[in-house]
Amino acid sequence: MALSKCRISSGFFPRVTGYGNLETVLRRDCGGGRAGRAAGPPDLANIKIGATMDDVPLIHDWNVEEFETLAWGRHVELDDETLRDGLQSPSVTDPPVGAKIELLHMMNQLGIHTANIGLPGAGPRAVADITRLCEEIRDANLSITANCAARTVLADIQPAVRISQQTGVPIEVCAFIGSSPIRLFAEEWTIDGMLRTAEESVSFAVREGLPVMFVTEDTTRADGETLKALYGNAIRWGVRRICLCDTVGHATPSGVRALIRFIRREIVDPSGANVKIDWHGHRDRGLGLANALVAIEAGADRIHATAMGIGERVGNVQMDLLLVNLALAGVHDADLTRLADYCELVARECGVPLSPNYPVLGEDAFRTATGVHAAAIVKAQAKGANWLADRVYSGVPAAMVGRRQEIEIGPMSGISNVRYWLAQRGYDPDDTALCQRIFARAKNSDHTLAEDEVLSIVREPAA
Ligand SMILES: [Zn+2]
Repeated sequence: MALSKCRISSGFFPRVTGYGNLETVLRRDCGGGRAGRAAGPPDLANIKIGATMDDVPLIHDWNVEEFETLAWGRHVELDDETLRDGLQSPSVTDPPVGAKIELLHMMNQLGIHTANIGLPGAGPRAVADITRLCEEIRDANLSITANCAARTVLADIQPAVRISQQTGVPIEVCAFIGSSPIRLFAEEWTIDGMLRTAEESVSFAVREGLPVMFVTEDTTRADGETLKALYGNAIRWGVRRICLCDTVGHATPSGVRALIRFIRREIVDPSGANVKIDWHGHRDRGLGLANALVAIEAGADRIHATAMGIGERVGNVQMDLLLVNLALAGVHDADLTRLADYCELVARECGVPLSPNYPVLGEDAFRTATGVHAAAIVKAQAKGANWLADRVYSGVPAAMVGRRQEIEIGPMSGISNVRYWLAQRGYDPDDTALCQRIFARAKNSDHTLAEDEVLSIVREPAA
């Protein structure tokens, strides 16, 4: 297998100031903004002390070794389910409509394509909020479009039709129905009975001119013949998007791949219709994000996710982390520097705190007090390149989400942590006595020193 010469794994190329034509070099080597492969192995034998970043292949990217077999190069859409599935989390508060509007604007800025804005069949409050959100899409001229969840019954679909007609905003109806044998057994449903009810409601929405996505709950535990019957009929009724759901978080990555390939090969392709495939996954096994990435590779057209993964039980795919991964893969190019605001809004308004060790956005995501890590970052910065310092110990560059690397001082620190910390705050990093005093205190501590703790050492009179 040929070695990739691509220097970084991503389409995320922040402009490097003070470092010549690095961005140009990266774009050239990585195929212009997307991870790709260049011919021939990197010339590692010729790296010399003092070499510049232009001379060295800095990152070898195994993620793109099998690039040709994956579908990463193509466009994938995102559906934000925070305001529907997210609010089904047993721990969240349903936020006021003002916060929902603010969130809708953030989704729009993050390049998210569609937002599920609720289940109008749930009652008057849901209808009022959905109506207001549709008006906002219309009046603020947002690019994001709306969809609504509905059971495959007329009583759920009629309010969606009414809101769409009142506001003049198209609403995609996400009409859901059970599909797994375990659910059919528990509910005492028959396929024929389900199809009769679904045909009436789905055909009504199609006749009213609304786009319909036909959603099968628990698809990852449904058998192929049932899925053929449900999707085959839905496509016949005029549905042009189907949604495969891992409702209970059962699927493993190989299950996701097998299911999507089956649906495309056995149902979508033979129909001859232009039918899009959505993936909606939960993370009961902790596989939500990985499964979403596999779904994209396997050919899903749109992925559902929520802010911080809030949702039914332990939740859905984390939209924020999905965005980061798509940006790193070069297939989503919206500015993500306000991603933290998106999560903070949901954390505050829904009452779901962001844990410090949450990837990318948690308080600790770019903090280190470890000597070896800090030394590498400090050396990278000494080479004059924030680009380098932001990646030498980070799989995700902090600048991508508007943050920076933070070096702190604790029992695992080296003296370079102390010097860096002092220099960053305008103190003399060459004051050996001060450095040693802080260093000795840190070594005897059982935790990373807080800002105030270090400052109090700095202010102590010298011995
Ligand atoms: Zn769900």
